[in-house]
Amino acid sequence: MRAARHQLLATARRDAQGGAPAVAARRGRLHLTHGVVETPAFMPVGTAGTVKALSPVDLKDAGAQMVLANTYHLWVRPGHRIIESLGGLHRFMDWDGPILTDSGGYQVFSLKDMRKVSEEGVKFRSPLDGEWRMLTPEVAVEIQEALGVDVAMAFDECIEWPADRDRVARSTERTTRWLKRCLEARKHADRTALFGIVQGGFHEDLRIAHAQELAAMDLDGYAIGGLSVGEPREELFATAAWTTPHLPVDKVRYLMGVGYPHDLVDGVLAGVDLFDCVIPTRSARFGSAFTSAGRVTIKHARYRDDPRPLDESCACYTCARFSRAYLRHLFTSNEILAPRLLTLHNVTFYQRLMARIRDAVVEGPDALLQLRSEAVEWMRPLGGEDASADPEP
Ligand SMILES: [Zn+2]
Repeated sequence: MRAARHQLLATARRDAQGGAPAVAARRGRLHLTHGVVETPAFMPVGTAGTVKALSPVDLKDAGAQMVLANTYHLWVRPGHRIIESLGGLHRFMDWDGPILTDSGGYQVFSLKDMRKVSEEGVKFRSPLDGEWRMLTPEVAVEIQEALGVDVAMAFDECIEWPADRDRVARSTERTTRWLKRCLEARKHADRTALFGIVQGGFHEDLRIAHAQELAAMDLDGYAIGGLSVGEPREELFATAAWTTPHLPVDKVRYLMGVGYPHDLVDGVLAGVDLFDCVIPTRSARFGSAFTSAGRVTIKHARYRDDPRPLDESCACYTCARFSRAYLRHLFTSNEILAPRLLTLHNVTFYQRLMARIRDAVVEGPDALLQLRSEAVEWMRPLGGEDASADPEP
């Protein structure tokens, strides 16, 4: 038995026409060791084994099916062996649903002046304790299997953007070599799936060649990596759309680190099934909420005496019980409940969007394009509020 199986339930397809983007959307069901995930799906980010400010009960209430945790952070603190000895990451954080971990690569490559990259892996100095450590494909697999997660990500090379074509090509080859070492290092392939990561920068031929090379390796799932690194958003979705047609139809596709609500719709149009991003949780902690009427900067003075809920069409606990005026009061008073209530709303908002996307795939391309127009509108500030204006303290 494979640790990941993606069952395709429906597709919506249409060529680009009259300014409307092409539609290559899929509706599916991802079967993993700790449960089934309806796709397309969005994973809230729980970097240190917690989606900041939320309990696992909150996550379930918000409709989250699967969460992402971070190999690097859990390795450095408290250590994967401690988590393993306490029964694994699911038990440690009391989340019984599927968990995906990134490989830690992105974090060690971000350490710029404190790392040394070689064919073996990445040697780095941990900012936490100043100790030198070595992250290799074998170590990344060992940590993720010890955590006992449902999906482990292969350790890949992350390079700067922009990078010249030669550098991208050489790095992509290294990513393939590292992927093979990850596959060799696995000891629990029956319970922890391993997803490979397609690289190739923003070069169509390199992307396609790498997608084909990885497709031939018959992996448990496929991620599209090296995106969301500062490139224009058109390039991101063009690259995803070049890649997906060359991946196996019966395997799940994951677009890492994306994005805003309209980005999720565009990713689904490009044939992606799985997403993660810090945007809904991080922006909530900064007082920014996504609503079906536009974005709300809750500290804004206009909400001082506003009796309405954050989003009048949202059924989350925050919107069912509290006024914008109260939420603003909490934020301006630096109360600990403030980020919690906004995070709960934003995560619910994202999960509800994914449920609507799944319905729209079944309805067809028109329903998806309609939802896309709506999601673009959600990016506007609510009531034309100037989000950049200094909110009243
Ligand atoms: Zn809400």
